[in-house]
Amino acid sequence: MSNQAVLFDIGGVLLDGERPLPRAIESLTRLRQADIPFLLLTNTTRRSHAALWQALTAVGIEVAADHLLTPASLASAWLRDHARCPYFLIHPGLQADFDALQSAVPDVQPDVVVIGDAGDGFTYDHLNTAFRAVMAGAPLVSLSDSRYFQEPAGLSLDAGPFVRLLECAAGIQAISLGKPGALFFGEALARLGLPADRVTMIGDDVISDIQGAAAMGTQAILVETGKYRPGDAALLPSGAQQAADVGAAVDRLLAAN
Ligand SMILES: [Mg+2]
Repeated sequence: MSNQAVLFDIGGVLLDGERPLPRAIESLTRLRQADIPFLLLTNTTRRSHAALWQALTAVGIEVAADHLLTPASLASAWLRDHARCPYFLIHPGLQADFDALQSAVPDVQPDVVVIGDAGDGFTYDHLNTAFRAVMAGAPLVSLSDSRYFQEPAGLSLDAGPFVRLLECAAGIQAISLGKPGALFFGEALARLGLPADRVTMIGDDVISDIQGAAAMGTQAILVETGKYRPGDAALLPSGAQQAADVGAAVDRLLAAN
């Protein structure tokens, strides 16, 4: 077993929408052949863990189910330990991850608000219900701090700006369970069982992926695919690298191995 490991972001690194990016599948195969373990770490909050895993498998991106980490799986465990009556501001596609938990019931004050990329669910009414719960003292648990993501039609708003909206309105700070939060990266490092400096994060989001992982002490490579924009290079933390795509990033890792 190798004494190093890799964390991959999914959207914009391995997938463009539903389609594997060039060399994505080959890169994972090469790591497997080199006996280098990897986890997939996504802030996607529009699909349940099971649906996401199935979609990945269907396009040839094969990973053990417990090597796919989503903020919702972390949140589900957090809620079991901390909350009785959560109010969910999430996408319907994510609901399955929380089916085992009880949701807020009418006339009962929620004791936590869980926010992900709710898409069309970000209505005034839903946001205001969440705002009132937070003002009444419920902690705000954020599944993603990402500002935007790449869709085939262009960039789209992610959960981050809506988390900021509620933080600003209520004068509080959310508990972040997605990237770039330390809790999410900490869970990934715990599963790998390796010191952070033996781990490399490969992502297309310079803040959520690269700055977040580097703050935990990992190596990091920003790929120039997905949501990458040339100005992102100025935000690279010291020591982080840049590569044209996931294939080039993995070439570099294997060459250094
Ligand atoms: Mg991405």
